[in-house]
Amino acid sequence: MAGLWDEVLRDEAALRQAAVVAVDAALLEGVLMRTDAEPNASEVVSYAPFTLLPSAVPRALFEQAYAVQQDFNLLVDAISRDKEFLERTLASTIKVDDFTARLFRIHQQVLEEGLAQSVFLGINRSDYMLDCGAASPPALKQIEINTIAASFGGLASRTAAVHGRVLRVLGKPEEAARLLPNNPARGLAVGIAKAWELYGSPSAVVMFLVEKAQRNIFDQRCVENELWDRNIRVIRRRFRDVFEQGSLDGTRRLYVDGQEVAVVYYREGYVPSNYDQQNWEARLLLERSRAVKCPDIATQLAGTKKVQQELSRPGTLEKLLPGHADAVRRIRATFAGLYSLDVGEEGDRIAATAIASPEQFVLKPQREGGGNNLYGEELRQVLERIKDSPERTSYILMDKIQPQPAVNYLLRARSPLKASECISELGIFGVYVRQGTELVLNEAAGHLLRTKAVEHADGGVAAGVAVLDTPYLV
Ligand code: ADP
Ligand code: MG
Repeated sequence: MAGLWDEVLRDEAALRQAAVVAVDAALLEGVLMRTDAEPNASEVVSYAPFTLLPSAVPRALFEQAYAVQQDFNLLVDAISRDKEFLERTLASTIKVDDFTARLFRIHQQVLEEGLAQSVFLGINRSDYMLDCGAASPPALKQIEINTIAASFGGLASRTAAVHGRVLRVLGKPEEAARLLPNNPARGLAVGIAKAWELYGSPSAVVMFLVEKAQRNIFDQRCVENELWDRNIRVIRRRFRDVFEQGSLDGTRRLYVDGQEVAVVYYREGYVPSNYDQQNWEARLLLERSRAVKCPDIATQLAGTKKVQQELSRPGTLEKLLPGHADAVRRIRATFAGLYSLDVGEEGDRIAATAIASPEQFVLKPQREGGGNNLYGEELRQVLERIKDSPERTSYILMDKIQPQPAVNYLLRARSPLKASECISELGIFGVYVRQGTELVLNEAAGHLLRTKAVEHADGGVAAGVAVLDTPYLV
């Protein structure tokens, strides 16, 4: 198949020159990351890895992804409010997966006490690949939806400018002008600002809950700055700070270092390694509070792989979104095949199928952050080992999606410049705010395109596998 940039790719000397311009453009535009060596200092920083060229994305599929985002916002919100659904769906998982079980216990505990929180803020990112496997033309297929700490909305707001510069340098000014504007940082901040306003305490702050190693701080700063520009104060704290300095007053208002917190925006707390006993206690304190959590614990659970698999069962979407037949249809059209490995005949059958043809599936544990999934021979071996044990219920199986590869150059500090066969993953950011039972904001807030070399089965930008990209609509 003829590639989008075939002509450009023939002139390697021009590409080398463009790569030098590209790196400087990334630094100037603020497409930045701290270094591995010094993740908590900004004295010396580098550019976040990115593709030299934007990648082709069919316009119809791009528009389809945007069009279904408000539906996904509605769905995630509905799941988070459905105690019975979460209980039923996660029942088998929490028997074998300790992390999900601990989150679930906090969820139950706060419901038993009664929620103090009345304003809810969801920021999610629904990720897709364009499947060329069975379907022709390619089809938009959801990989997963991230309901906690969905990142790169900030840097994605600055990446198109870099690719525009590169295309101009390569003699493609018309193509440069066609790159779409994209500002998820602003969209995310609009949601946070709305939740802050509805919380209704003008002196209260927004607290970003951040990880120990803060390599991706510039991505977060893009959102922070949008809030400061709206005269909303932002503080950055760790779970440890909440444990040591956090408290609730008589009406369960949250105070940290004496400052009232209106909104807690989690950029941490999504993997087991984020927690020790004190951090779990801090998490419970936050969840019990009146502050708007983004996400609250129920919404985090709504983003588990087990929930995703359960959504694909016939009838589930209809029950969760009664009266929204069109939304259900749009959502279902993006689902790939998803299979439960629960103990029983259904699980036995799909386990046997996957052991027989492992290359057609991905085996996923209940984990976030990339690098956890199993493929091919490894999938077969693990499934063979656990197929007769309840341990298998901590995983789900998914059809493997087959995107069309394209040639690109992945620009990374200290890596030699070379052409790679690449595949891309498109993410759409969703933002919504609910006050009581009323949804007061529901938007698609922008997009993120990430690209990686085909030889890497798994892993995101933070994991050092994928790089930032810009869609070029075709
Ligand atoms: P995580 O929560 O770790 O990000 P994902 O479900 O997003 O988990 O999977 C991680 C990566 O694995 C994705 O970014 C994608 O590259 C790859 N992947 C996941 N599911 C599939 C699939 N069904 N087909 C092909 N690749 C997949
Ligand atoms: Mg992912």
